[in-house]
Amino acid sequence: MTGRLVIVTNRVPDPRERGATAGGLAVALRDALGTRDALWFGWSGAVAAETAATPVEHQHGRTTYATIDLGEADHRHYYLGFSNAALWPVLHYRLGVARFAREDWFGYRRVNAAFAAALAPLLRDGDTVWVHDFHLFLLAAELRALGCRARIGFFLHVPFPPRSVFLGLPNAQAILEAMGAHDVIGVQTADDAENLRGALADAGAPEAAAKVAAFPIGIDAAGFASLAARRFRTKEVAQLRDSLAGRALAIGIDRLDYTKGLPQRIAGFGQLLRRFPRHRAKVTFLQVAPVSRGAVAQYRALRRELDEMVGRINGQYAEPDWGPIRYITRAVARPTLAGYMRLARIGLVTPLRDGMNLVAKEYVAAQDPADPGVLILSRFAGAAQELDAALLVNPLDPDDIADAMDVALAMPAVERLARWRSMDAAVRATTAASWCEGFLAALEAAPVAEAGRYSPRCRRAIA
Ligand code: ADP
Repeated sequence: MTGRLVIVTNRVPDPRERGATAGGLAVALRDALGTRDALWFGWSGAVAAETAATPVEHQHGRTTYATIDLGEADHRHYYLGFSNAALWPVLHYRLGVARFAREDWFGYRRVNAAFAAALAPLLRDGDTVWVHDFHLFLLAAELRALGCRARIGFFLHVPFPPRSVFLGLPNAQAILEAMGAHDVIGVQTADDAENLRGALADAGAPEAAAKVAAFPIGIDAAGFASLAARRFRTKEVAQLRDSLAGRALAIGIDRLDYTKGLPQRIAGFGQLLRRFPRHRAKVTFLQVAPVSRGAVAQYRALRRELDEMVGRINGQYAEPDWGPIRYITRAVARPTLAGYMRLARIGLVTPLRDGMNLVAKEYVAAQDPADPGVLILSRFAGAAQELDAALLVNPLDPDDIADAMDVALAMPAVERLARWRSMDAAVRATTAASWCEGFLAALEAAPVAEAGRYSPRCRRAIA
């Protein structure tokens, strides 16, 4: 790559947070950013009276961070509305949870156009643009409309549902048509690729369908393994271990989100205690689920439901010296969680749908190679394609989760080890860095867009 790498994401992380506390995407892009000149553009995270037209720029190492504030109405309609209340549920196969409003679509279009208008003047000849995720489906088409000829790649971090589900989204057709403005369209799994190709072909965009490929995302496995080993020896982990008094620990770590299957998981643990009394007072379930998107109504309802379920199960099965479920809705630092994961005999990762699910890979990487725990994994997480040595469950079925927990608690060390070795090899095979390089290599191999080459359909989509 001769020019700069230009990353565009909805939120731009604060460069000072890079490292152990950064989110998955920031970690995944760290190596790519460290070794070339880069520009990272997106929302600052701040809400102002109006969406800013000119970005604020900061230099950090070889990366320029350029961010804009979002106006209050744009934040409401683009971010809370169309992105979080419409696209997020539809892409996770949850049409029934989705809320649609015409103003949200207008806000989504407005912000994609505003991003393009603020970014375009910063672009230089030879730059390669990499757009991330569902917030910015229209950005490339907007950039093309402004005359941008750079290579533009797109990566979708969440699942893409079958087209019959996606077409439940008002304006689905416009989004699919706008996808044609990219040179490479990356998704997490072969299933997502097949679904997206089908939707694009059906929308009359076969040339866009031909640009779709799967690039499963990974983690910095070696880095996370050594973080977990180090944190395992800290006071926080010792306190948790002592408090278990020799009982097994099952752990769940998620954002509090309705795609993560939390009610079914808690019901599954309840079923384990009900159907297999031998496990009562022998296993403690720690669920860490910090509140996210608290401004969206569905998330508040989920929180109430979980509060009630946890209270009911704890009330029913607790002993004076043992509580079945420990439930934390505050944020816990990621390094501490790495140590907790290593302590846990069972990792419960049971999203109803997930693009990849990095927690599953982190749990595997965090294990003690001499005495690894058991991963119970939803068959509907993208990670299940690579981690098929996990105990795969139907996350909608609490009894299936209970059965898997029963198997995991009795699993002999040789079987735990064999399953873990196979999963650890998979987690180390695709790392964050190799994912990034693989996508960028495909993007660089794509032909440079000629002026006016992108289809008129894509102009229509944003008209
Ligand atoms: P999603 O992107 O939908 O939140 P992923 O599992 O793919 O789900 O990625 C989540 C990332 O955020 C992981 O790196 C994970 O360690 C981190 N994370 C998830 N839940 C928590 C939590 N409760 N506290 C701190 N970090 C978390």
